Amino acid sequence: MEGPGPFVSDLPLGDSVGSLKGMYMTGWGNVFYNYSKRLEQLKYFKIPKPFGFLLASSEPQKIEVLLWESFQCYLLNLPNASLPLIIRVLEIALKQKFQNKSQQNLRLVDLIDLAEAQLKEKKEMAHAFRRLRNIIHENTLISEQTSLDALRYISDIVNTLYPSPQKVRIPMKCPYCGKQGKIDFQSNECYIGNEKTYNCKCGKTIYPLIL
Ligand SMILES: [Zn+2]
Repeated sequence: MEGPGPFVSDLPLGDSVGSLKGMYMTGWGNVFYNYSKRLEQLKYFKIPKPFGFLLASSEPQKIEVLLWESFQCYLLNLPNASLPLIIRVLEIALKQKFQNKSQQNLRLVDLIDLAEAQLKEKKEMAHAFRRLRNIIHENTLISEQTSLDALRYISDIVNTLYPSPQKVRIPMKCPYCGKQGKIDFQSNECYIGNEKTYNCKCGKTIYPLIL
């Protein structure tokens, strides 16, 4: 095989090795450009961050990491890495909701059936379930679009099963003075990529982002 083909991600790994040798890095500008383009796309779809599930989970930190890595992989054009991570979030959320003593070791497809039955009143979710079933049965390499669809529909389903609170208070640390602060996001503001201004007592303005 000759050189990198079109299947290679736009992460310029070769360039980063080159940079160690003091070579000029041409590829990173492109990565940042594409990263922010994808972030804009996430914002456009207003994909909810499932705070309701994070609050209900006994392992919120684990969920946070899986969510964060899944979205970061998408943003960095690694759709095949993103998809299994978000599916894991879905599986944990559905098991917590539907698995009990009489129903142990349910398969993901069974759990999805149970979730759809519970949300059958919400007609707008039907498409999300249909698309999700196609995605989990995909046997080929995952496209950027498929990975985006999975992030959208899984976040929607989890957020509907575990409704978010009216207001989410997120702790934050000012990167300038190090002071701890808190910032409130209303439930309709809790979508991936959304940012708010935060005025620290030290006089600096920060733009914390939901991700
Ligand atoms: Zn500060």
